[in-house]
Amino acid sequence: MIVTRFAPSPNGLLHLGHAWSAIVSHDLARLRGGRFLLRIEDIDGVRSRPELADEARADLAWLGLEWDAVPDQSRRLACYRDAAARLRAQGLLYPCRCSRAEIFNAAREKTSDGPRYPGTCRGADIDPGGDVAWRLDVDEALRRTGPLTWHDEIAGEQAAHPELAGDVVLVRKDPATPASYHLAVTLDDAADGVTLVTRGTDLFAATHVHRLLQALLDLPVPRWHHHALLLDADGRKLAKRRGSPSLSERRRNGDDGEALAAALRRGQLPAGVTLGEPLHSAP
Ligand code: GLU
Repeated sequence: MIVTRFAPSPNGLLHLGHAWSAIVSHDLARLRGGRFLLRIEDIDGVRSRPELADEARADLAWLGLEWDAVPDQSRRLACYRDAAARLRAQGLLYPCRCSRAEIFNAAREKTSDGPRYPGTCRGADIDPGGDVAWRLDVDEALRRTGPLTWHDEIAGEQAAHPELAGDVVLVRKDPATPASYHLAVTLDDAADGVTLVTRGTDLFAATHVHRLLQALLDLPVPRWHHHALLLDADGRKLAKRRGSPSLSERRRNGDDGEALAAALRRGQLPAGVTLGEPLHSAP
């Protein structure tokens, strides 16, 4: 059975782009008689706020969506710690003390997610007991797994290239947050039995890393559906900070959420909003 999910981070209010993503994921599951899950990605102990998770649930119900709830990320910290310990025991993680500014200044290449980590601390003698993040030694990990592939329903079969992202952080410096987005989301999708990971094309590059983690941690390999994004008049991804009204504002204004969802499904977008291009091959 197909299982999809929508996985918002409750550190801001949802906007139209989130509505679109949730509807795509919901409809892909429903059209094929499957399950649609809602997972609250509240791993960021500093920025996550429980009241924003409540707002997100109210927004999705207002859009007319129904879901099965799975545990919030904050309830799964033990599972993240355990996976990180297994990777450390395999010698695949190394401690890193670099600050953002140091990485920014030393990086020579950029990824879709910011400067590519130049490997400063790989092989360095760093006290692991201190205030450190743990990074994945991607080249060593790939040596162990060999070449990997993954399948996107829209872009087709992909050769995995996690090396493009560099040695990503898997465990953050903050001891209250024992995982990064990459580690948490990969473990959660496996634990929740997600068979079709549905999310925007902005996270396409992250999937290369997730595929490697699945191989290292012996997790099932789902398929992916990276949907096109809603864009603003400047062709940029919709963002609350650039003036895209939140769903909760629309809801509190008395707008009809189910009518909005129906319009999005028909491709009727509000003025100034367009649907971007899907990816047809590896970017
Ligand atoms: N929590 C992530 C976000 O809000 C989405 C994660 C995912 O879909 O993989 O951007």
